[in-house]
Amino acid sequence: MRNGFVSERLAGEEDAMASVPDVSVVVPVHNEEESLPHLLKAISSTLIESHFSYEIICVDDGSTDGSVKLLKEKAQTRNDLKSIILRRNYGQTAAMAAGFYHARGKAIVTLDADLQNDPVDIPMLLAKLEEGYDLVNGWRKNRQDAALTRLLPSKIANWLIRRITSVNIHDYGCSLKAYRAELVADMNLYGELHRFLPALAYIEGARITEMPVRHHARRFGSSKYGLGRTFRVVMDLFTIAFMKKFLNRPMHVFGLWGLIFMVSGGAISIYLTWAKLALGQDIGDRPLLILAVLLLVTGVQLFCFGLLAELLMRTYHESQGRPIYRIREVVENKGRMSLK
Ligand code: UDP
Ligand code: MG
Repeated sequence: MRNGFVSERLAGEEDAMASVPDVSVVVPVHNEEESLPHLLKAISSTLIESHFSYEIICVDDGSTDGSVKLLKEKAQTRNDLKSIILRRNYGQTAAMAAGFYHARGKAIVTLDADLQNDPVDIPMLLAKLEEGYDLVNGWRKNRQDAALTRLLPSKIANWLIRRITSVNIHDYGCSLKAYRAELVADMNLYGELHRFLPALAYIEGARITEMPVRHHARRFGSSKYGLGRTFRVVMDLFTIAFMKKFLNRPMHVFGLWGLIFMVSGGAISIYLTWAKLALGQDIGDRPLLILAVLLLVTGVQLFCFGLLAELLMRTYHESQGRPIYRIREVVENKGRMSLK
């Protein structure tokens, strides 16, 4: 073994499922029947050629074409493929999460089923992982998608995500990524957060890098997404921004703003009381009164919300046995030095 997950032994399709494979290739599938045979062939020939032991995990996400039939048949005849058929269409994130759950490899590679990503790039990503990274993100430098509806929104989204998450990579949306398995085990996926995996990984303290990868135009079928996803990306961005900053200390944001609101509302109220009692002014129709009441009420609400969020965070961590830190490695002298 070198620096981690790649074993020296020659591997092949035959013993791919035998022990812990070097790499699990996770592929979410939704109506991709024409692409699948080409994809499976390309993945296995690349990985056999570069001597990796591997397993392919195809997760069918509620396909209505022949994908399910094909995946079932292939999984019965070849021993490097595990097909997981979801009951209905849950979305790409859920399909990937199902794949991650079943992956046994020391490294996990994800890619799309539509042949837009090229399996030929997988060994290069794995080699990069071996240099000591936890996540290698593909970068579709030469992306083959429509300019106005895909490339432009993607450019803006990537810029925004870079700013908010401070993970400096170009192409969050590229499905071709390689992870160390331990990292994937630490990440929980919800909504459509698969696009933000590098940001989630960063929150878990991962070492992240990127590499340019090939990208092809779709040969079969059609894209499953339209412009509508831009909105969902922006919403997910808020979640990520909050998680990154305040996951372990929500009171620091809600409590702080709650206090600021309460104090300023209180100060205005005191001033108004003084104006009424000492100066005999009429304060009933003053906008300032409304402001004071609003500040006090929202301030109390924010503060209480912060306290509730603190409770929720504790439940989140303790119910899952999730510590608030991640250990990269533990170094100790197994033989124990003598005390003298
Ligand atoms: N996909 C999925 N569930 C969905 C939508 C898509 O599993 O609800 C899969 C799809 O089969 C493909 C990948 O996710 O393998 C990416 O989808 P697509 O190629 O349509 O996205 P694009 O490349 O256009 O961004
Ligand atoms: Mg695609």
